[in-house]
Amino acid sequence: TRKRSRAVIKKTEQYGAPNYHPLPIVISKAEGSWVEDPEGNRYLDMLSAYSALNQGHRHPKIIQALKEQADRVTLTSRAFHNDQLCEFYELLSRLTGKEMVLPMNTGAEAVETAIKAVRRWAYEVKKVPENQAEIIVCSGNFHGRTITVTSFSSEKEYQEGFGPFTPGFKIIPYGDIAALRQAITPNTAAFLFEPIQGEAGIVIPPDGFLKEAAELCKQHHVLTIADEIQTGFGRTGKPFACDWEQVIPDLYVMGKALGGGVFPISAVAADKEVLGLFNPGSHGSTFGGNPLGCAVAIAALEVFEEEQLARRSLELGRYFMEQLRQMKHPSIREIRGRGLFIGIECVDEARPYCEALKEQGLLCKETHVTTIRLAPPLNISKQDLDWAFTRIQAVFN
Ligand code: PLP
Repeated sequence: TRKRSRAVIKKTEQYGAPNYHPLPIVISKAEGSWVEDPEGNRYLDMLSAYSALNQGHRHPKIIQALKEQADRVTLTSRAFHNDQLCEFYELLSRLTGKEMVLPMNTGAEAVETAIKAVRRWAYEVKKVPENQAEIIVCSGNFHGRTITVTSFSSEKEYQEGFGPFTPGFKIIPYGDIAALRQAITPNTAAFLFEPIQGEAGIVIPPDGFLKEAAELCKQHHVLTIADEIQTGFGRTGKPFACDWEQVIPDLYVMGKALGGGVFPISAVAADKEVLGLFNPGSHGSTFGGNPLGCAVAIAALEVFEEEQLARRSLELGRYFMEQLRQMKHPSIREIRGRGLFIGIECVDEARPYCEALKEQGLLCKETHVTTIRLAPPLNISKQDLDWAFTRIQAVFN
């Protein structure tokens, strides 16, 4: 049994750099909230590629946009204009309320872009002395895997063997407003944060922290950068997780679901005062803003709006979390979350539970050793969620 799957895993492990530890399941087909292995076994996807699949697998409208654009033009580079980028700009500008957008491909690239933007702003607008700009970040952060982004991680595992690192970052405890106040200096360019920390284990900051942080930064002429790569586009039950505290950051960093689970596309949105500081030659990407990605992103954003994914996430998340909280099990320490972004905090390691859930036909992945992260597609049916609950009950029994 599972001969084909075993062969796939063996070859993957033989030739691939071992920088991941996937569950032993091969996905060869998918639709909506469901995936299938080569042997035809079906599983409910409760991870959604770390929230890149908010619209579900292979959403018909997004796939159609992909196919139609593939038949016209896929890549122009930014040496020339293409007719999809401007539409993508306009739509994302409306959704974020920001004047300008800068497209990249992956989340980490968009974070790097935001860092470059706020540094340039610090020198040109705030008049910070050359090479003195500081950016404040939070402990437990996850913003990607490039050297600069890794430079301000608080996780030893992410940094080990990769130095020397990029200077200019200060780490404060997540959710600690007094520490933020203390960390700000005249050279502070920006405060970079996740409105809810995903990789850290669905960590929600204390009520009022985002709002107070935004006000504090404004007082001190410090820009706020919200990394909404994982939390954006409805994941937490609001369009952006910052909306939970009516916070409007100076810069939105977006990725994942922006590409509808079909094509890697990321972006930074901010007003002209910040993004207008880039000039030709200062930044770019061969694939950033390509017409194929833009056509896909436009469709992905339209699905997000048309299917009211933020509202669905809010309602289904409340419903599902209520169910989960009824489970009283000595191995469960806490159930927390917002919308369909839910963590089951276990007393001991979460991995064996994820493996057991896989055996029950439900796919999810542990994060930070003790947390089971549940983040299904936002258009998952209530029926499928009910089914998921029976599987979780079967494991915590
Ligand atoms: N920022 C956050 C909050 C993330 O969750 C992630 C990915 O998990 C990233 C940045 C990095 O995105 P990417 O893996 O596309 O570089």
